[in-house]
Formats: sequence, C-alpha cells, structure tokens
Amino acid sequence: MRQETKCIQAGYTPKNGESRMIPIIQSTTFKYDSSQEMAKLFDLEKEGYFYTRLQNPTNDMVAAKIAALEGGTAGMLTSSGQAASFFSVFNLAGAGDHVISSSAIYGGTYNLFHVTMRRMGIDFTFLDPDCSDEELEAAFRPNTKAVFGETIANPALTVFDIERWAKAAHAHGVPLIVDNTFATPINCRPFEWGADIVIHSTTKYLDGHDAAVGGCIVDSGNFDWMAHADKYPGLTTPDESYHGITYAERFGNAGAYITKATAQLMRDLGSIQAPMNAFLLNLGLESLAVRIPRHCENAQRAAEFLSGHSKVAWVTYPGLPGNPYYERAKKYMPDGTCGVISFGVKGGREAAESFMSRLKIAMIATHVADAHTCVLHPASSTHRQMTDEELLAAGVAPDLIRLSVGLENIDDIIEDLAQALEG
Ligand SMILES: *Cc1c(COP(=O)(O)O)cnc(C)c1O
Repeated sequence: MRQETKCIQAGYTPKNGESRMIPIIQSTTFKYDSSQEMAKLFDLEKEGYFYTRLQNPTNDMVAAKIAALEGGTAGMLTSSGQAASFFSVFNLAGAGDHVISSSAIYGGTYNLFHVTMRRMGIDFTFLDPDCSDEELEAAFRPNTKAVFGETIANPALTVFDIERWAKAAHAHGVPLIVDNTFATPINCRPFEWGADIVIHSTTKYLDGHDAAVGGCIVDSGNFDWMAHADKYPGLTTPDESYHGITYAERFGNAGAYITKATAQLMRDLGSIQAPMNAFLLNLGLESLAVRIPRHCENAQRAAEFLSGHSKVAWVTYPGLPGNPYYERAKKYMPDGTCGVISFGVKGGREAAESFMSRLKIAMIATHVADAHTCVLHPASSTHRQMTDEELLAAGVAPDLIRLSVGLENIDDIIEDLAQALEG
C-alpha cells in the first residue's frame, strides 16, 4: 500500500460483520477462562491483553498504522510526546550511561534530557547538528547508548542530516533515534536514511485537530541488538522480572525493543494513551496524507508573503530558496517540509507583541502543527523570564514569532498577516 492508502487502511482490517471503524476498547481489563491462560500472558508466552496500563487493542491498531506509515516493524502509543521521548531513550540507557543529542531539539525534550534524565544518572552531550565530523566522532564514549535528533527542529526549523548522523552512530554500534513530529511520515521517513527508532508527538500533525495529547514510538527492526550485546544487556540478557526472558532472543530485532518498552516501561511507569484519544488520533491519521501537502503549500505562500514585506525583518522556512537548509530539505523532504515558519517584525519585542494582538484569524496559542493557524511569541510567553541577552544565547530572538500555518484559505491568512503588519 502507498502512504495515502495506509493512512486509511493500515492497522485494522474488520472481519465479517465487525465494525467498520476501529473499535474503542474502553476497558481497563480483559477476562480469561483460566488462571493458566492468564499466566501465559504474564510470562509473554502468549499474545493478548490483560490490563490497559500496559496495552490496549485500540492503541495497538493505531500504533500499527503509524508503524506502517514509517515503514517500521513495531510501534506503541504513549500518553504524550514527552513520554515517547523519555521511553525511547530510557529503554536503552540507565544510570552511568551516556547519550548524544542534537542541540536543535524541542525545548521540552531538552529539559527532559538536560535536567530530569541527568538526575536519573544519564549523561548527555548536546552537539550543534551541523558540527564537524571530528566533533561528532569525539563525542562518542564507550558508554554511549543512543544518539538523538529531530528531523525539523521545533522551533529552530533546522533540518537534521539523518544519513550522516546514522552512519556515525552505527560506526559506534549505537542506534539513532529521530523525532519526526514536524515532518511526519508523509514528508520524511527517517528509516529510509538509516534511523533505527522514530518517535512522534502525535499531539501535532498526526492528530492535527487540537483534540488529543499523545505520543508514539516506532522501531525499524534494523538494529542488531545481539551484535552489540555488551552495550544493551536489558535487551540481550534475561529479564528477571519476566521469568528470564531475553527480549532479543525471543522477539528478534523486529520486536525486542517495543516488547521491552511495553513489558517493562509501560508496566512500571504506566504512561499509556487513553483508548479514546487513540481513536481521535486515528481520525486525524485518516486524512494525514491530504492535510500535510496543504499545510506545506499554505506555509510556502505565507513565507513568501512575509519575506517580501517591508515591515518584516527576517523569515526562517526551509522551503525558501535562500534558507541555509533549503538543499538538505529537498534531499530528505522533496514533497515539502512542514507548516511552521518563524519570523521577526521590525521593531523587536514590542512590535512583535503589538503585531500579534492585532491578528484576527491567527490565534495566540502554545500549540503548533494543527488545522488552526496559530502564533506564539516565545519572548513574552514560554521564555518570558529571560532578558534579551539570555534569549539570544538560547537561540530565540526577542522578536521571533512562531507561525503555524493551518488549513484555512491562505488568502484569508495572508490578509490577516497584512492588516496586522500595517497596523
Ligand atoms: C510538542 C513536541 C514534543 C512533545 O510532545 P507532547 O505531546 O507535547 O508531550 C516533542 N517533540 C516535538 C518536536 C514537539 O513539537
């Protein structure tokens, strides 16, 4: 099946007389005829459901659809994108381990890694994604367990050189994890460029309607855990909490990583997506292949309009020919990048605030990547405690406005931007 067809058909095929839509299995628990049968589930000897803290059929249907879209072998839904980022790394690394991450990542991911996961004893090295090969090479340590980057960074809008980073990671026997939230599997499939694991904040384009917070992890099935058994004892030696199962032996490269994340991390941390949210996410996925090209078309038009306007100081959008990532974006995302633009208006922080207050259609919201056009001024909201100097050091210009272009008629959006700029 092609991507458009997978958006609609993958993950669930009703049998004779079954519901056309994926069923919402709104149940905490599942009934069995005998204790012996349930024991087999607990020992992972048989597939099945027993408690929704670990697994739920609705979630698994939707995860299977996203896995199909990414070209992976297994997937799982999480309660949020943050939970997906955390699980994806924590499934491989623990106290005493080290992870290399691109510094151009979502702010919430940076906090998770730099503050919270450091407190758990995991060390992180953050590298400029366009650092030299020597710098990248020098960052690896014997205890490096994962490498992490973002296809298109939120909000920096830099484009990650997946192929280069995957080669470096593999040369050291380490998998590459890519957050593919902004590009979506419609525009980029990181596994085709060597990434091993993909994560999403499904809260953004995959849902796409501002309805449900969620996350997803997909495994490519390509990383050979047994070939690097010393590095990944959690996957390659018996798990005492599961009666001595060795995930990589029992489930192979195709299933070991997601089975371990489900059996251990979901069991112990319980960050599962509600089945109702998974149902809503699936509705969004059904139209993903139709929505994404329109987001990109609209954003391209808005970016071109802003670049030509005398009151606009600068525009960052990888779809603009002058953008430093234009060529790389064409390589990884020939059909378009995303619907998010950042720009500055002349007059700095105050001009940005007054421009935004004059917008009538574009809404001020802490969200991106959905049907509604929205704007955010980080300097007066998410980063408001910082001085202008601190903002610049953090890579957020005081006049930066993040514009997430929605699915409205783009002429209405451009007219709205125009009247607010004129004002
Ligand atoms: C929003 C976002 C996240 C975090 O996702 P939540 O669903 O808000 O927890 C992670 N990565 C990227 C790129 C994001 O945009």
